[in-house]
Amino acid sequence: MFRRPFNHDSDPFWKEPHMASYKHSNVPEDGATITVEKGELQVPERPIIPYIEGDGIGPDIWSTTQRVVDEAVARAYGRQRAIAWMEVLAGEKAFQKTGEWLPEETFEAMREFRVAIKGPLTTPVGGGIRSLNVLIRQVLDLYSCIRPVRWIKGMPSPMKEPDRLDVVIFRENTEDLYAGIEWASGTKEAEKVRNFLINEMGVTNIRELAGIGIKPMSPSGCKRHVAASIRYAIDHGRTTVTLVHKGNIMKYTEGSFRDWGYEVAKERFREEIVTEEETWEGKSTEGKIVLNDRITDSVFQQVMLRPEEYGVLTTPNLSGDFLSDACAAQIGGLGMAPGANVGDEVACFEATHGTAPKYAGKNVVNPGSLILSAVMMLEHLGWDEAAELIVEGIEGAVGAKQVTYDLERQMDGATKVSTSGFGESIIAHMGSWA
Ligand code: NAP
Repeated sequence: MFRRPFNHDSDPFWKEPHMASYKHSNVPEDGATITVEKGELQVPERPIIPYIEGDGIGPDIWSTTQRVVDEAVARAYGRQRAIAWMEVLAGEKAFQKTGEWLPEETFEAMREFRVAIKGPLTTPVGGGIRSLNVLIRQVLDLYSCIRPVRWIKGMPSPMKEPDRLDVVIFRENTEDLYAGIEWASGTKEAEKVRNFLINEMGVTNIRELAGIGIKPMSPSGCKRHVAASIRYAIDHGRTTVTLVHKGNIMKYTEGSFRDWGYEVAKERFREEIVTEEETWEGKSTEGKIVLNDRITDSVFQQVMLRPEEYGVLTTPNLSGDFLSDACAAQIGGLGMAPGANVGDEVACFEATHGTAPKYAGKNVVNPGSLILSAVMMLEHLGWDEAAELIVEGIEGAVGAKQVTYDLERQMDGATKVSTSGFGESIIAHMGSWA
């Protein structure tokens, strides 16, 4: 899927290292910019990758992640490739240094260098910002959130056969109730909206003093997201894409999500997909991705009872949030669940959990979510060999039962190790390609 230049002479897209000055960040002089040509990433040998360390436990998990990634890249490619890391500021560290929670140049760096990774960020209390994480997704239009959920051998699980689950949750990131269009009970605004709905729209069932939220879902927003999920399935050899929706009740939002999903699939991927309905009429699934749809509540049951029937689960924003945590619980919990927020221009990989402030600076939490997000990032770059080494290392560390507290408390006979200790154990269990 990605073209991977190995040396500068043969790479017509290789550029001189970036020389523009950022006020609060240093651009690594030995790095080069990732570019896009005809829709494909052009990755130099030393791509500049901006990272946000994150708040709370962010510095603990970031330093371990960086060490694990650097080691895997070195073992996979020797001195031929390396990541040129560039720290960019966000959250409390940014506020202390610049007086801003999210300086504009952080967005600029993510736009310019195209691939970024971040630790969790605290939402500033009373700062007028709903969430820094949501802001990053909105400003950079990272419209799909990708969360693969698969069991790693040895991982504790409440399920009898956790290896049966291997899904990728593709959650829409910009619309739905999550867009945050809501008014609190008792406010003038809520009353105004209620009056409008009652007097002008004929709505009769909104009680006095109701808080009100709006659930916008558009054809363009849903179609680009569903199309990205089908493209992902094609690129990653998945054979099923399921549109998850509650269209039986919310017909013009969730129901339309399903309809627009089928529409865009037929418009743009007619050769690659067959719908489930077409298979009932006798169409072959040979070499095709089967596109079906399921009601959201049934999917929560299906991922427990018949998980092997599902590959990519394409969801609206809110249900995708619920579903990805429910699936993560089957494979070791949030500490082992990676994620990426992806748009047409930029991809930002991130731990799915928060800043867990009570553990900040204690070097105890599980770095697995951020490390596995880095694995997704390496795959996105086309550096699959390094990604595989990290997964091998994690399997080795978990197999040896050298794990952080959250996993240790779920396993018999395990040894509790620190955040950095887990990283060292992952490295000790990595093989080598070079
Ligand atoms: P949280 O930080 O995810 O922590 C909740 C609990 O999850 C922790 O107390 C811990 O459970 C467990 N946990 C989280 N990360 C872990 C890890 N790496 N290893 C092991 N266990 C882990 O959720 P929160 O306390 O609700 O949120 C705290 C702050 O994070 C808030 O400001 C919130 O806005 C922010 N947040 C940011 C993001 C993001 O940056 N993407 C996402 C969610 C929340 P135990 O105590 O049981 O061990």
